[in-house]
Amino acid sequence: MIARETQSVKPNLKARLHHRILILGGGTAGLTVAARLRRRGEPDVAILEPSKTHYYQPAWTLVGAGAYAAGATVRNEEPLIPRGVKWIQDYAEEVDPDRQIVTTRAGDEIGYDFLVVAPGIQLDFDKVAGLSETLGKNGVSSNYRFDLAPKTWEFMQKLRGGVALFTAPSTPVKCGGAPQKIMYLTADYARRHGFAKGLEVIFGSAGTTIFAVPEIKAVLDKVIERYGIHTQFNQELVAVDGVKKEATFELTANHPTVKAAPDAPKPRITIPFDFLHVSPPQSAPNFIKQSPLADPSTPLGWVQVDKHSLQHVRYPNVFSLGDASSLPTSKTGAAVRKQAPVLVENLLGAMNGKAPSAQYDGYTSCPLVTAYGKMFLAEFLYDNKWHPTVPLINTQKERYDMWLLKKYGLPLMYWDLMLKGLA
Ligand SMILES: Cc1cc2nc3c(=O)[nH]c(=O)nc-3n(C[C@H](O)[C@H](O)[C@H](O)COP(=O)(O)OP(=O)(O)OC[C@H]3O[C@@H](n4cnc5c(N)ncnc54)[C@H](O)[C@@H]3O)c2cc1C
Repeated sequence: MIARETQSVKPNLKARLHHRILILGGGTAGLTVAARLRRRGEPDVAILEPSKTHYYQPAWTLVGAGAYAAGATVRNEEPLIPRGVKWIQDYAEEVDPDRQIVTTRAGDEIGYDFLVVAPGIQLDFDKVAGLSETLGKNGVSSNYRFDLAPKTWEFMQKLRGGVALFTAPSTPVKCGGAPQKIMYLTADYARRHGFAKGLEVIFGSAGTTIFAVPEIKAVLDKVIERYGIHTQFNQELVAVDGVKKEATFELTANHPTVKAAPDAPKPRITIPFDFLHVSPPQSAPNFIKQSPLADPSTPLGWVQVDKHSLQHVRYPNVFSLGDASSLPTSKTGAAVRKQAPVLVENLLGAMNGKAPSAQYDGYTSCPLVTAYGKMFLAEFLYDNKWHPTVPLINTQKERYDMWLLKKYGLPLMYWDLMLKGLA
């Protein structure tokens, strides 16, 4: 048995329920960490997770393009919980890291010695006026929700021309490539069905560029040129009128017009559409935002951890990874795969009173689907440093074998290896 006390962390004896390690969220990150902790012999691990189902979200892009069955992206949560790990089926409602207690929606108090925070990201559809009312209707959809991805495909098939509009918000989003992948698939769909000439494809983004990594941007610029897509940067979607089929954007501080007159009210522009795919604003779940774990420097409320050790900057017995964390990299499952072993190593070290020894370098990757049957893999580290890792092949090229990887290889790897702590 390993020595379990650290100088900085006292065992919590007051709460009714208590676990040595409590994991908030049994999604990609929570399950992967739990599996790895069990493989390292940790006997007392619990996951607090409300959902009976677990989703393989990366395939929702393909679901939205009719290239993957929605049902194949969902499985029951129960068999995915690693053997020997306790599943508490409830929501975390409040975290008190000073008392080392999490309060659940049902009113239970769960004490912990060490906490792993992985409740994912919150989709803030309500931040865009009129959007929630029209989602799934009037040609408005979003691949960011399981129930809506099939609607994207339904609307895409009804398109015969006009304007197809795709948006990206100013907040970080899960899978930075997702807002644009569905755009390329729609443009390819139009080409294959003979109406590309009558379809105007517009990317309305609050970002400043199509991709921040220059080597990846270079490939995407050519894809955009090939399809004749109109990119409009520095504009944030603020309202949608589904009945009139109009989307309203506000120009951001980076827009040349606003830069020229920073004190004037920000101009708005309205774009009529036939089909609208929205990537909503995103933030940490509200219970994190309202807790002492949140990064006070941003209203988005990410769990404030050291970007290399994944340990909380104020509470040494708290760690975080995945979409809810403050890690300044693109939020993906691929990033979680690299974060999980680092977190587990440093957590086990902390349980033995050691300083963190493992370091996360910001690795993330995004399979950029650019057409039916074409994909290239964007891999990079912190500071947008391009970092291709696949040996022998040129991953900067759009390739059919990479499409097969996205459609068949990565889901297999996810379900059978990653969630079991084996990859
Ligand atoms: C359209 C789309 C395309 C994507 N494409 C890719 C891709 O190609 N490649 C890639 O690597 N990644 C992709 N991703 C991103 C990837 O799915 C996420 O980055 C990854 O799932 C993050 O893992 P996570 O555990 O942080 O969050 P999640 O997997 O979302 O899990 C969070 C868990 O926390 C639970 N939870 C929520 N609130 C609470 C609460 N109050 N208390 C307790 N539990 C709670 C949820 O039920 C959920 O199970 C994509 C995502 C989307 C939506």
